[in-house]
Amino acid sequence: MRPEILVLGSGWMPEVSEELERRFVCHHLAQVAPDERPAFIAGIAGRVRGVFTSGTVGIDAALAARLPALEVVAVHGVGVDAVDFKALAPRGIPVTNTPDVLTDDVADLAVALLLAAARRLPMLDRYVRAGGWEAKQPLAPSRALRGKVAGILGLGRIGQAVAARLEGFGMQIRYYQRSTAQLAYPRSASPLALARESDYLIVCAPGGSGTRHLVDAAVIDALGPEGTLVNIARGSLVDEAALVAALEQGRLGAAALDVFVDEPRVPPALKAMDNVVLAPHVGSFTLEARTAMGMLAIANLLAHFAGEPLPTQVADKPA
Ligand code: NAP
Repeated sequence: MRPEILVLGSGWMPEVSEELERRFVCHHLAQVAPDERPAFIAGIAGRVRGVFTSGTVGIDAALAARLPALEVVAVHGVGVDAVDFKALAPRGIPVTNTPDVLTDDVADLAVALLLAAARRLPMLDRYVRAGGWEAKQPLAPSRALRGKVAGILGLGRIGQAVAARLEGFGMQIRYYQRSTAQLAYPRSASPLALARESDYLIVCAPGGSGTRHLVDAAVIDALGPEGTLVNIARGSLVDEAALVAALEQGRLGAAALDVFVDEPRVPPALKAMDNVVLAPHVGSFTLEARTAMGMLAIANLLAHFAGEPLPTQVADKPA
């Protein structure tokens, strides 16, 4: 008999959707009108043994409490900051995520954002389309990447993949993270020092309460009027109000952002600025990465229901 699972979120790749339906009896919360969800959940709660959820949806304590038969949570994503571990751990409910299979594609997007900000591609595209070139409207030169310092905040899987790519552009790499394990690059003493010592600050650390506003007003000021902030991690890591203020007042040079505090809402001030590049949280949004993520999340559920070791269980409560 196929185990029953609750699916939170939507937009899975076709191969993933087919495999989900083939392997499990799926209850899709996103397909239920918001006001009908409490009754819907009450009707299936006693039978739901697993949850399949996205990195941004996760699972909160209230929903977990309404699922008495819950045994396992599989996150389709590497970030688990939207999962309430405090609600799951006492019940012995393991959480799995999908590391590695998305690393290259997220790193590619980080570099694309950095390049787009450095060479001002969105602004130049608008300039050409609006006839600015033909009208010979003045255009200031961009700044070269070669020789500039890229500071990686969180030199984990994605951070290291970003660093490897940026080395190819002739950039110098620095990083900050808590562990002092010997890595190939110089380590700055703090996020503030990293910002001071970098031309580009690329945020690659996990979200969650432990990293909230790691990039605060002081860090943004340390990056400075010639500096660029790139964030592909989570919106919560950056003090968004301080970021907007610094950009508006010319205290920060530019920003390139894939993630925001209140997605999908983006502060209008960010949308209005030419030195800001925006993307709708698409770091892992390639057919290849999303298919691999879905299949890995399913593999974790299958392993659980077969009583086998989970391929990618999240070790402990993330910081
Ligand atoms: P990872 O391998 O666990 O790397 C995270 C790194 O951040 C670790 O090296 C860790 O080192 C560091 N870190 C943790 N807490 C920190 C702190 N307080 N200050 C500074 N550094 C800290 O994770 P990953 O696979 O690279 O993924 C990183 C994050 O990217 C995910 O958590 C997710 O939120 C985000 N992401 C975004 C997208 C997107 O679509 N934009 C896609 C995938 C992932 P220490 O523990 O030593 O500090």
